[in-house]
Amino acid sequence: MTDVSDPTMSWHKTACVLCGNNCGVEVRLDHRTITRVRGNKSHVASAGYTCEKALRINHYQNARGRVTSPMKRLEDGSYVEVAWDLAITEIAAELRGVIDRHGAEKVMYYGGGGQGNHLCGAYGAATRNSLGITRKSNALAQEKTGEAWVEGRLFGTHTHGEFADAEVSIFLGKNPWHSHGFDSARKVLKEIAADPDRSMIVIDPRRTETADLADMWLQVKPGTDAFLLTALIATLIQDGLIDNDWLKSNATGVEETIAAFEDVPVADFAARAGVDVTTISSVARRVARASSVSVYEDLGVEMAPHSTLVSYLQRVLWVLVGSYGIPGGMSAHSSLIPLFSYGATGSEPNDPVTGGPVVSGLIPCNEIAEGILSEHPERTRALFIESANPVHSLAESAKFRQAMRATELSIVIDIAMTETAVEADWVLPAASQYEKVETTFFGVSFPDNWVCLRPPLLDPLEGSLPEPEIHSRLLRELGIIDDETLEPLREAAAVSWSAFADAFMGAAAANPSLAAAGAVVLYETIGRTLPEGMEGAAPLWFSAQQVAMRYPDQVRAAGHEGDGVELGNALFQAMVDNPDGVVFTRHEHGQSFDLLRTPDHKVQLAIPQLLDEVRALGDAPVDYRSEDFPFVLSAGERRSFTANTIVRDPSWRKKDPEGALRLSPADAAMLGIESGARVRVTTAAGSAVAVAEVNDTMMDGHVSLPNGMGLAYSPAGGEPEVTGVAPNELTSLDWKDPIVGTPWHKHVPAQLEAI
Ligand code: SF4
Repeated sequence: MTDVSDPTMSWHKTACVLCGNNCGVEVRLDHRTITRVRGNKSHVASAGYTCEKALRINHYQNARGRVTSPMKRLEDGSYVEVAWDLAITEIAAELRGVIDRHGAEKVMYYGGGGQGNHLCGAYGAATRNSLGITRKSNALAQEKTGEAWVEGRLFGTHTHGEFADAEVSIFLGKNPWHSHGFDSARKVLKEIAADPDRSMIVIDPRRTETADLADMWLQVKPGTDAFLLTALIATLIQDGLIDNDWLKSNATGVEETIAAFEDVPVADFAARAGVDVTTISSVARRVARASSVSVYEDLGVEMAPHSTLVSYLQRVLWVLVGSYGIPGGMSAHSSLIPLFSYGATGSEPNDPVTGGPVVSGLIPCNEIAEGILSEHPERTRALFIESANPVHSLAESAKFRQAMRATELSIVIDIAMTETAVEADWVLPAASQYEKVETTFFGVSFPDNWVCLRPPLLDPLEGSLPEPEIHSRLLRELGIIDDETLEPLREAAAVSWSAFADAFMGAAAANPSLAAAGAVVLYETIGRTLPEGMEGAAPLWFSAQQVAMRYPDQVRAAGHEGDGVELGNALFQAMVDNPDGVVFTRHEHGQSFDLLRTPDHKVQLAIPQLLDEVRALGDAPVDYRSEDFPFVLSAGERRSFTANTIVRDPSWRKKDPEGALRLSPADAAMLGIESGARVRVTTAAGSAVAVAEVNDTMMDGHVSLPNGMGLAYSPAGGEPEVTGVAPNELTSLDWKDPIVGTPWHKHVPAQLEAI
């Protein structure tokens, strides 16, 4: 552990956790304060790259308002501190009580990690599996389940683009300048912009920072991306621009797919999307003649009308020109722990309470509160929420608050008294992301996949515990693990990890509850063989074994040696030893089709349900505004100083302190306001007052608010103050994708009024 009292200390390696990229950084500490931050040039993926946010990570680490004791809610809504032992005893008894009364399937687990702390999800899974809790959800079920639904059907797995090498890069509802999503995003964007042989195409209503660098910016009308993409695909097909030879060898369902686009009225659809038909023709031709095309869609389309259809259409576009499994194109990849499971296509179960599709085991976020507040006999009776803030991040915050109070038990594990924690029956204080070993599982792409285990920089803040310890104590109290059972496994682990592998397989076969409690068992056994502070990394030993078993050649190609269990051990040892991170698999493009999980390892291009939607698109509305709500609000834009909700201290923002409502000059003139004026934003769900920013990147009629605002924070330690507008006070549970239920946060009909 770092000697934090030594002011002459050197730089310490860790990562920025303010977005999923987790760029490697080095920091200087003065006791518990992070005083300096610089990019880590030795980091396996970022190689010294950071954006401006990394410099401000101390505002996350040392924000006020950390919880430093388990807190129990009293009848009057106040909280009392409770000692850890007593809290664990009472929570275990209350959880057992709910399960005995209603069954484990009436308990829901929500969350399990954010952008840089995915290990806690493994420990949450141990508690869930041990208790038989199957109902779960997290933010992916309001953002990415449409994409997963489509990718499961087309490829049986997840794909990713190679933007550093693509001849044509398309960004759809995505502004990588601020939302990143691939390594060294700004550097890559500038390289594309400077290369006359490569093209960047941005599809976005706003002239984003990325659009400013683009060769072609298609200023699509908000919510009409499906019309634009359908027109693009129809142009490719109708003008004979698709790669028939490639499709014949590598895809099925091609004729059926083509037939759905043959009669699309391109000019009409282009007009609906607000994009000139000649521009669509130019884009189609640029895509068709490119040696490689990579596409990145993001929340701008995933939380807007036709979101699942749009996820499908953009993939049809690059499949039709054969941009899969080639340098610069799209490819499937391996994962240490996949974020989605892709079952047999079309076999998603439905939530017994609301009927919503449960994609990858996740209840649609939009339906959680509704289900709890119903009288349905199957409704959720207890919530276990970990490292997540659903009251703030899900549509209609008021409804989720109400739902939490309607449960018989709600437990929150977090570092601060968040908007969700203040509604819970119990709050258990977790160590921060710099006070324990952690990692992200987002380091996946093609050909290399990487992982970086960050050693703790600091001891846990007094009174808090890392999640492995919280879950371990809970499982002990519940009688699921005990020292008598664990001791033989600890002895085997002390001999060698290979000896442990044999002992664990035997013990788990004899006692399945050991396998269910997997991550906690590994923490209590293999964890004890790891360097001080790294114990919580133990579940990755199992992940390393699985990757080594499934992709031995690719693990060896990444530089790890051995066979079988020894190969997994070597990979895990490399992870533990390298704070710069390691590549865990290295693929070759010739292997891309092996990674497809379809029965014949081909792309299954036709999704009949979505092809029906394409055929019906001509009758779909293009505008959801009304006389009462004449603007489209994009609620939750990513900007320079936004980072979901993990940075609560508003002083971390160097600009845009309140998170302004951006609107076009013409709209501002119509309302008679200038930048700095106050504006009331009203939607069908609520009303809020924001500061205005007149911004010429906005399309007339389209306004935006940033994400991560509206958090309660007390700079002086007194009563908390709220800065900016919490976007989900304005969003609605009623606006959602008809297939997977993802909400339309980026397309909220709204009214503006100058104050
Ligand atoms: S915010 Fe993201 S891109 Fe920026 S430094 Fe942090 S991890 Fe890297």
